[in-house]
Formats: sequence, structure tokens, C-alpha cells
Amino acid sequence: MSADRDGRGGDETRVGRERFRPADHPNDHFLLTTVVGSYPKPAWLTDVRERHEADGDAVTDDEWTEAIDDASRLITGEHERAGLDVVCDGEMRREEMVEFFARRIGGYEFKGPVKVWGHNYFDKPSVVSEVTYDEPWLREEYEFTAGVAERPVKVPITGPYTLATWSFDEVYDDDAGLAYALADLINEEISGLVAAGARYIQIDEPALATTPEDHAVVGECLERIVAGLPDDVRLCLHVCYGDYGEIYPKINDYPIDEFDVELANGDYDQLDVFADGDVDPDLGLGVVDAHTPTVEPVAEIEANIREGLTVVPPEKLTVSPDCGLKILPREVAYAKLENMVRAARNVEADLDSGEIDPDALRTGP
Ligand SMILES: [Zn+2]
Repeated sequence: MSADRDGRGGDETRVGRERFRPADHPNDHFLLTTVVGSYPKPAWLTDVRERHEADGDAVTDDEWTEAIDDASRLITGEHERAGLDVVCDGEMRREEMVEFFARRIGGYEFKGPVKVWGHNYFDKPSVVSEVTYDEPWLREEYEFTAGVAERPVKVPITGPYTLATWSFDEVYDDDAGLAYALADLINEEISGLVAAGARYIQIDEPALATTPEDHAVVGECLERIVAGLPDDVRLCLHVCYGDYGEIYPKINDYPIDEFDVELANGDYDQLDVFADGDVDPDLGLGVVDAHTPTVEPVAEIEANIREGLTVVPPEKLTVSPDCGLKILPREVAYAKLENMVRAARNVEADLDSGEIDPDALRTGP
């Protein structure tokens, strides 16, 4: 762990959780509710983007900016209406999780789409010279969202390991070398976001799910990312479905406040991985499935939250969907969030009343 963020281990309440409790929160217990990031775009936004890209006269740059601001305002409001404690804009300004960053990082070039699976193409970027930090990537997105939101805003950032492994690299010796260079740039980006007021940052590393043996590379990236960051910045690591047994308990040594996992989709089969009673960061538990359009009833989500309470105490449990919700129909995504928040508040009330005894639920030593 870096010097600035030492002393966060063990059973201490993690720095930065209580600051996200809304003033009007109804219960003593507080299961922080949030999203992973992406959310379905309004159909009209896709339409305006396509017309803007096809013809700059039909939709001008100013009109496109207005449309994207409107979409961000709309989805941030939708998150707040669902009752989430920490919101974001649903990544309205981003089309794809690698390309968005590669277009803003010096040293990247696009050489045309490559076939990834079936008939799907991916405009895989190439690193053609040393990567450089030339301009803020997310400052505008954060400032706009924070400006329209009543609730605190989380900033998801594609992690350096994923950016590196999902790019062609013509410069660095290996993926690790490129990932470390990108981690240093992310550290610079986060410093700017923190100066602008951001206090909740999420690093997305889906690539770690497919190559868990690279956990040490991701650990070193995270050390670089947090170097010099103030203690009151909450850092979350999100890793989509994979073999968590390969990366836990190694993640206990990562300098993170929260580890966010996708487990609802696998019916909590892998929950045992975390049952040693020794999970160091807070656990961000996926409690609604991001891949199925069936809206889970509140009672089912409450049961999912109680699954989380078998491995961590309530003060270490964050409640979120499994992953970004962008592939779902928008009304389904909203209904899932609304039910998720309702379920979290119900479980909090049961914890307050003693109906749920968290010590009895926990299976670990
Ligand atoms: Zn995910």
C-alpha cells in the first residue's frame, strides 16, 4: 500500500463510506446503493449521434453538445429518482469502454475495425508511440454530472490493464509495461477529478476476469493509481464475472476501499470464495442481473443482499447491479434499480429492528 493510504486494513470502517449517506436517509444502517456505470441510452440520442456523424450540417457540434448534455441530465435524474445514494450519468458521453479513452490518450492511433466475434467489429486501437496525458478525459463529464446531481457522483474509469490488453501495442515490451504507463496517466487524471470535487472513483478491469493470473500486474497498477491521492477518495475496483477464486484473497493487498463483483448472474455460486471472514475492502455486491431482462422482485433482491451479509458485515456491504446496464431496455434497467433500492432500504430496516442478526448470518470464523 502507498504511504498515503496506509492503515486501512482490518475491521476499521472504510474511509469515505459515511460521507455518501444522504441527510434524509431513513434507517440507522446504511447499505450504500449505487450503479456500476453504463445505462441504456435514450433512443433519440443514438439517432442524433448518427445524424451528427453522417453530416455536420444536419446536426451541428453545438446541437450535438446540447443533446448529450440533455441525455446526461436525464439519466442522472433517472438514477436519483430510483433512489440511488451515489449516481452517475450512465456513461452517456461514452460509446465504448476502450475507444473512449484511447481517443483521448496521446500515443494511440486507430487503424480500422477488426472482427471480434460473429459479425461484430471492434475498432481496436493501436499504441504507436509512448502514451501521454495531453488533456483531461473525464473532467467535463464529471463537472456536468456533479452540477446537475443532488446526490454524490461516482466516476467509472476503464482500468489500465484492460486498456492495455485490449489494444494493439507496437511500443512497449509487454502488456504489463503498457499497463503501468497507462496507470500513471490514470493517476494524473484522477488528481484532476479530485481537484474538481470527485470523491468516488471506480476502476473497471473486466480483462482481469479472463486472465486472473495477472493479478500482480493489476495490483501494481492500482499502487500507481493511488499514489499521492488524498485519503478521503473512495477507490473501487470492479471486475466482471470470472473465477474470483483466482484473485481472492490477493485483492486484500490491493490499495482499494471496495471490490465490486458480479455474482447475481451466477446465482452466488462463487460467494464461498469470500467466506473466510477476512474480506479486507468493502464488498460491492451485484444483486440484480445485468444480462437478463427479467426484473427481479424486491423480495428476491432482499434475499440476494442477505447473501452478501453472510460474508461481510452491513457496514462493509455496498449494493449495486452486477455490471453496467446498457444492454437492457431502459424501462427494465430503471425497474431493476428502483427495486434494488427498495430492497436495500427494507434490509436496513430489518437490521435496525433486529429482525436480521448480521452476526448470526455470517458464516466465516
Ligand atoms: Zn462489469
